Amino acid sequence: MFEGLSERLSGILNTLTRRGALTEDDVNAALREVRRALLEADVALEVVRSFTDKVRARAVGAEVVKSVTPGQMVVKIVHDELVAMLGADADPISLQAAAPVPILMVGLQGSGKTTTTGKIARRLKERGDRRVLMASLDTRRPAAMEQLAVLGRQVGVDTLPIVAGQNAVQIARRALEAGRLGGYDVVMLDTAGRVTLDEGLMAEVAEVKAATNPHEVLLVADALTGQDAVNTARAFDARVGVTGIVLTRMDGDARGGAALSMRAVTGKPIKLVGTGEKIDALEEFHPGRVANRILG
Ligand code: GDP
Repeated sequence: MFEGLSERLSGILNTLTRRGALTEDDVNAALREVRRALLEADVALEVVRSFTDKVRARAVGAEVVKSVTPGQMVVKIVHDELVAMLGADADPISLQAAAPVPILMVGLQGSGKTTTTGKIARRLKERGDRRVLMASLDTRRPAAMEQLAVLGRQVGVDTLPIVAGQNAVQIARRALEAGRLGGYDVVMLDTAGRVTLDEGLMAEVAEVKAATNPHEVLLVADALTGQDAVNTARAFDARVGVTGIVLTRMDGDARGGAALSMRAVTGKPIKLVGTGEKIDALEEFHPGRVANRILG
């Protein structure tokens, strides 16, 4: 995760910290390099621009405290602005609502939505001691429904029995009813994905959302698709409204462009990241820790 960027930035910033005094030109030269490194990591151009502008504004006017060198001061500013760009604080899934709390999972097919649904259910069960019910709303792909049932058995979480002939909204309503009657704390609704963003998908997700009033709408996106993941999130948010992002396949993402741009472009927090195919490969997203990792 972020290996490429981390190496580049440490190189640039180490050169700064080794110097005693810094001129404005030194700062600008370093920021040009930072800008190039961020663009190479596939960070959205508007995000890069705003980031470097903010760092420049603070670095040029900054009063250097006695205990640090000017270079260390710039590194601190870069760190702080990176944290701000990533969303400042961790933003975990909220369950502050009447039980059963509905959580709607949305995203494109292949993004890791079903796997992530299982991962979150397992986490809520094991760490939060919650009773979770999962339901697949993918009426077009019986294999997807079966996949969720298999995951449920694997992690010891109940799934809604499959009834043929119901549409997504009917299944979602049945899931909430089963959640109420069964005394579940959380009902996770795994919506159907499509290969591309199309109006049919959006309309169905919007209809399910209107029928279930979910407390969280989590958009699952594949980090490896870079700016496409960001654009997908933006489109879902504009059409349906999302409360947070889960970025999958971070384990294979050396560049980090999606993770770094997501918050700044969409205004929505990355709540969790998928870090592998295993069912426990799910981590909370902590902006401070991520910035530390990037800046070594
Ligand atoms: P869906 O079509 O969006 O429901 O996608 P799936 O949940 O079926 O996932 C598609 C593939 O991605 C599966 O092989 C998953 O094991 C894999 N996958 C999901 N999340 C991650 C992740 O965080 N890291 C890796 N390496 N693979 C993942």
